[in-house]
Amino acid sequence: MSFDYDLFVIGGGSGGVRAARVAAGDTGAKVALAEEDRYGGTCVIRGCVPKKLMVFASEYGDMVEDARSYGWDITPGDFDWTAFRGKLEAELDRLEGVYRRLLANSGVETFDQRARLVDAHTVELADGTRKSAKHILIATGGRPVKPDLPGAELGITSNDIFHLDKLPESILIIGGGYIACEFAGILHGLGVKVTQYYRGAQILRGFDDEARGLICEEMCQKGIDVHLGTNILEMTREGDQFRVKATNGTERLFDQVMFATGRAPNADDMGLEGLGIERGRKGQIVVDDYSQTGVPSVYAIGDVTDRVNLTPVAIREGMAFVETVFKGNPTPVDHDLIPTAIFTQPEMGTVGLSEEDAAEQEPIEVYATSFKPMQQSFAGRADRVLMKLVVSQKTRKILGCHIVAPGAGEMIQLAGIAVKMGATKEDFDRTVAVHPTMSEEIVTMKTPTRTA
Ligand SMILES: Cc1cc2nc3c(=O)[nH]c(=O)nc-3n(C[C@H](O)[C@H](O)[C@H](O)COP(=O)(O)OP(=O)(O)OC[C@H]3O[C@@H](n4cnc5c(N)ncnc54)[C@H](O)[C@@H]3O)c2cc1C
Repeated sequence: MSFDYDLFVIGGGSGGVRAARVAAGDTGAKVALAEEDRYGGTCVIRGCVPKKLMVFASEYGDMVEDARSYGWDITPGDFDWTAFRGKLEAELDRLEGVYRRLLANSGVETFDQRARLVDAHTVELADGTRKSAKHILIATGGRPVKPDLPGAELGITSNDIFHLDKLPESILIIGGGYIACEFAGILHGLGVKVTQYYRGAQILRGFDDEARGLICEEMCQKGIDVHLGTNILEMTREGDQFRVKATNGTERLFDQVMFATGRAPNADDMGLEGLGIERGRKGQIVVDDYSQTGVPSVYAIGDVTDRVNLTPVAIREGMAFVETVFKGNPTPVDHDLIPTAIFTQPEMGTVGLSEEDAAEQEPIEVYATSFKPMQQSFAGRADRVLMKLVVSQKTRKILGCHIVAPGAGEMIQLAGIAVKMGATKEDFDRTVAVHPTMSEEIVTMKTPTRTA
């Protein structure tokens, strides 16, 4: 049977673009890709990249203040959102162009349209055109979802934050996940009065308790008004503002309300049900270790499969798919010990198990130190950092490494190599410290803080 393409990819985000261009570029496969919105997907257009640029923008205010403490004769000014947003938009246009060129240069044919599946080998584009392919790869990512409550349609999500005409004077952020906490820090740094409601007992559920406790304390100490155990009941418009009723009995006015209450996989209206492709509890596409669905010609990668929703993971899954299907080298994706960063202020870098999860698994030793870092302390700030290792008593291996500190994302990438290699506490001990740094503490902690 002959097909129009060897591979049809649906979705031009992190995972889809990588799989398409490697399949076409490395193996000479005939590849097409459909993207309904902008090339680069969530990461480039409304996720990691614009967010990190906003993190950078938000940190300059404090830096100017700190510079004064270091003797610089400079005065903090106001942040010009319009000027920044213009530069941000230009940068995202540039990056989208890069993604388009990467595909074109690899010989991938692109369709700027929505696509859905008609059968195991056929894709239908929004204009009704049908294309056949030996393999179909679904890489359609995810989208933010708002809770079902009165007035929720008045609120914004992380998708909208980059396009605001002007920065609000005050914002309520709802949610306690990493996106909620990152934007709380960003907007606070840009001069917005930030309130955060989270229904749970502590922000950043799933991460190490000590680390998330410190982040929450630091966020509060910086002036973010965090309310735990608090959720929104309803919101209504009142003039230019929004009146928000909360579960703690309060009613407050905010200029803007942002929901960061979760994400859903983009797998609806894709023709999956007709094909018998299984969906999970959150609506994600269920795949095996090789990203294959129950229909042998159809694979899915990235956030739409809701495994580990991070850009480098979507990319890895795309590469492993190409290895498996186009290079004759079946490659499962290794989701173990993925280092990751949370760009809160302070930042967190983490790899492996939290103390709580490790302790459930086996007897552990915990090495932890929290201190005021030199640079901020000299500037008169009360900021604290945390360096923490969770160690197996039996194998001596590092089961988890958690860092809360400026630059923790950069640090954990490197510590992650050692942990992935199976480094023991003694390997860390025999590594000479780099002095004076914050991260030297990670190799100088001699006595366990506690055992469990
Ligand atoms: C605010 C925010 C911050 C983030 N920060 C980080 C971070 O710091 N580090 C990190 O690693 N990850 C981060 N992420 C997560 C990261 O962006 C995602 O894990 C990653 O983009 C997933 O890639 P993907 O290829 O699965 O999907 P996506 O990048 O979402 O791409 C999917 C693409 O498919 C398109 N599409 C959907 N349906 C169709 C259809 N039917 N037909 C055609 N096209 C379709 C979409 O328009 C989209 O372009 C962040 C996410 C958000 C929202």
